This record gives sequence, structure tokens and C-alpha cells, in this order.
Amino acid sequence: MKRINIAADENNNHARRIKDTVAIVNASQNYFFLQFQDIPTSINDREPIIRVDSLQDRLLASKQAGHLICITSRSLEDNWFSHEYRECSIITTYDWEEVFAPPSLRSYLLYQIAQSLIVFEAELTEEMLLRLVHEPPKGCAHDLCIEKPTIKLGMVAGNLCLSCEGLLLQYGMDKNAIDAIRRILSVVRDEAVGRPKVLDYASAFIVMRFSHNDENDNAYRYGISPGLSDVGIKVHRGDDTVRSNQILDQVLRSIERSRFIVAKVDSDNLNVYFELGAAMGLGKDVLLISESSLVLNLPSDLRNWECLIYERGNYEQLRQRVAKFYRDNFGLR
Ligand SMILES: [Zn+2]
Repeated sequence: MKRINIAADENNNHARRIKDTVAIVNASQNYFFLQFQDIPTSINDREPIIRVDSLQDRLLASKQAGHLICITSRSLEDNWFSHEYRECSIITTYDWEEVFAPPSLRSYLLYQIAQSLIVFEAELTEEMLLRLVHEPPKGCAHDLCIEKPTIKLGMVAGNLCLSCEGLLLQYGMDKNAIDAIRRILSVVRDEAVGRPKVLDYASAFIVMRFSHNDENDNAYRYGISPGLSDVGIKVHRGDDTVRSNQILDQVLRSIERSRFIVAKVDSDNLNVYFELGAAMGLGKDVLLISESSLVLNLPSDLRNWECLIYERGNYEQLRQRVAKFYRDNFGLR
């Protein structure tokens, strides 16, 4: 997981939405992790307009190690939305709500952050970036917006075109990083077309056979559920009685709304595999869990998936492994 610093200037009246945006970036993928950094004193000066080159120098001189995305409410001297460099980027929120919204400020910030992450990850020089830029625009994150409102085309498309993807791979960008960018862009697209997905970023839906007072039930009660709680994930599990009458729609909606899916795959319950298939089809982050003695019974299509294994009856081990999985892979604490 790549940690990227982000900072907003003092008294930024969009602080809450910037925080929301960062939470969405972190929840929509698990390749990049944005973390707030104290604002470098260099952008707290009182200039009403930011001179980009001098700001870049000052940011580079003052920042901690690693990449930095800087969000300011002041306008940039050349009136652009943002500038991306290999080490740092600057994004302005100036005028977005007054002049350009909709799409929402959050959607705009997500879009700009995605562009910064591409430049950081592929270590793009200005020359490389120029090879990626589209003029006229074609509905790609690399559209050049000579007319500023053109940016909306790229936001509605929420897309990284195939020729850009090809070039970025050539430049050595990791395929997983490109997938992460696509995930962020898909949130931009959903928001920009006015259909934001209702996603509970801190919840997991549990897919498993339901039972009482047996290994399965105990594993859930004393291993999976507390392990998820340890890292701040809320647990949703269809209640048995409701579940038997639960219509398919409700199950699918629960899967769609949850950020995480945890599937206990050591039973031969068909519902489990149906729901697991739906979750995988929706691109959810899925954790498979199995007892060590039963893991070989996994259907062949699932054997290539990483599966968290625990020893039957050892619920403390299961709890710790579940928590560790989310700490290691999703930056949760
Ligand atoms: Zn493109």
C-alpha cells in the first residue's frame, strides 16, 4: 500500500468535504492510502493567488518524505485547476462551487486526486505527461481542458482510455495501481451523473451458512465478528429467520452497499456461493475464510483466491488473523 500525504490550507472552508473525499479515496481501493499531514507553512502565506512554480519549490523544500497532494482554496496564478509533478501536486477548490458545480466539489476533488496519483505512481515527467494528454478531449482523465468546463466531460466519463492505460503500463505503472485509479474514477462517474452509490465504507456483509451453536456459528461469534470490530468494521449478517424469507433483491442490496464481503466458504451451501459470485461480480473486496481441515474442499474456481485459514475451534487465532488482514491490506487501525 502506497502512503501519500495530503494537506489542505488553513481555514479552508471545505475542510469537511476534503476529509470525506479522502475517506472515499481510501475506501474505494486499497493500493493508495491518503494520510493527512500538517500543512506546510509554505502555503499559509497571505498571497491571494498562488504562484505555482515558487509554491512547488517551497513544498518540496518543506515536506516530509514521500508524495504530497496540496489542496488550496486560493486560485492559481495561471487559473488552472491543478498542477501535478512527480513529487507533489497542487489542486485548487477556488470557484468550483460558484462557477462549475455540478458535479459536486467532492467529485471534482476525487477526479483531481486520481490524476495526481497517476503522475506520482508512473513518475511522469512533463514530457511523458504531454504524450498522454488529449486535445481535443475524448472523455478520459487526461483530457486537456483549454475551456475549463470541458473537465465535466472527463468527469462524466470517469474513464482512463485504453491508449493512456497502454502508455502508463509502458512507463512501468503497476496494473494494480491502474485498477485502483479506475475504481476512484468510477466513483467520480457515479457522482457526476447524479447516481452516487450508497456505500457504507465501514461495513462488512457476512456470507456464510447460518446455524446455531456449532463450529460455524462460534467462528462467526468469537472470531469473525470481533476481528472485524477490532479494526472498526461494522458487521452485517442477515438474521436467520428474516433470511429464509429474504428476497434476493435485499441480499444483493446489502452486498452492494457494503464495502467488504467476508465469506466463510467451507460449507456446500449454494446460497453462499451465489452471494459470493454476486459480490465478486460487483468488484467487492472479498475475504474468504475456511477451517484448515476443510480448505481442500473449495470449489476449483476459488482455489486460486487467497483464503484465510484457521484451526477449528481456535477462534482467538481467527479473530487476530481477520483483524491483521484488514490492517495489512486496507490501512485500518
Ligand atoms: Zn486517455
